Amino acid sequence: MTPHIFVAKPLPASFEELLKEHCTYEVWQSKDPIPKDILFQKLQHADGLLTSGTKIDQELLDHAPKLKVVSNNSVGYDNFDIEVMRQRGVIGTHTPHTLDHTVADLAFSLILSSARRIAELDRFIREGNWTKFVQEEDIFGIDVHHQTLGIIGMGRIGEQVAKRAAHGFDMNVLYYNRSRNEKAESAYGALYCTLDDLLKQADIIVLITPLTDETYHMIGERELKLMKQTALFVNISRGKTVDEKSLIQALQEGWIKGAGLDVFEQEPLQENHPFKEMNNVTLVPHIGSATETTRDLMLKRAIHNVIHGIDGKAPIDIVKELA
Ligand code: NAP
Repeated sequence: MTPHIFVAKPLPASFEELLKEHCTYEVWQSKDPIPKDILFQKLQHADGLLTSGTKIDQELLDHAPKLKVVSNNSVGYDNFDIEVMRQRGVIGTHTPHTLDHTVADLAFSLILSSARRIAELDRFIREGNWTKFVQEEDIFGIDVHHQTLGIIGMGRIGEQVAKRAAHGFDMNVLYYNRSRNEKAESAYGALYCTLDDLLKQADIIVLITPLTDETYHMIGERELKLMKQTALFVNISRGKTVDEKSLIQALQEGWIKGAGLDVFEQEPLQENHPFKEMNNVTLVPHIGSATETTRDLMLKRAIHNVIHGIDGKAPIDIVKELA
């Protein structure tokens, strides 16, 4: 029987061509997230699911008796309940390598914006504050070049951040990772150190680990207090790797100098979130991989993964815990 795939996110018509010859399919074309009851109904007959961030847990799998593969249109897969998927024999895939450069570019956008106060000074001009009476020192930033960058999570994206830092900005690179990354050491001169040493020594810190039980709130009050008071902290991983209450306090009370944030504990950011009132934070709405070229690449890879996950023929990007 022809396999059936449900796509739980809008899909441009040109991408439907990629599915057509392999399977029957249905697409959720609304920009609003699919309601749970409708998703469960759609999954009754689905062999494959293509999604971005849908929680894949026991309840969902109970409504998806035929499901063989879940293809995430992202590299992160903290929406997978790995144990439940393993027990049910459901394959989970993601899109590694497709977005490394784009996310590393965003890391540097946030580093530069925080250091040179780009977002803050853009507001400063728009609000009519740029007069000839402005004191030069009031708009000083800090240098990025030749500073020490600490990368927490030296994986695919971490390496691209290290490359930009070492080759583009003449920075010294420190890193902390679960395991040593010899490529980053030899190619970018990155020095492996403990988390505490990195936090104490780095001028700028980029967090780019996956969100797991181990990394949940890995940056909290203790870690923020170890950072230099002049430090800038950039989070491009997932919001929940950081204890946001402590980060707010750190920024309000000057434990650190500033932050650049792409990800938040709750997204979208709540209406009255304290970050919105802070001038020492650059905020962007989870746009790590958000360029047209990269999103197209990711979607093509996710479609490839879901199609071939069903027939088990081509190499696909199964997440390492389920491989
Ligand atoms: P990756 O290649 O798997 O790299 C992740 C690195 O983190 C690995 O080197 C891993 O170490 C390390 N790590 C994992 N758990 C750790 C722990 N407890 N302590 C220290 N290091 C740990 O993944 P990637 O492709 O670089 O992506 C990383 C994450 O970035 C994704 O999972 C996703 O959540 C996030 N992301 C965000 C955006 C965005 O839009 N902001 C876009 C893409 C990705 P090992 O080598 O020992 O496994």
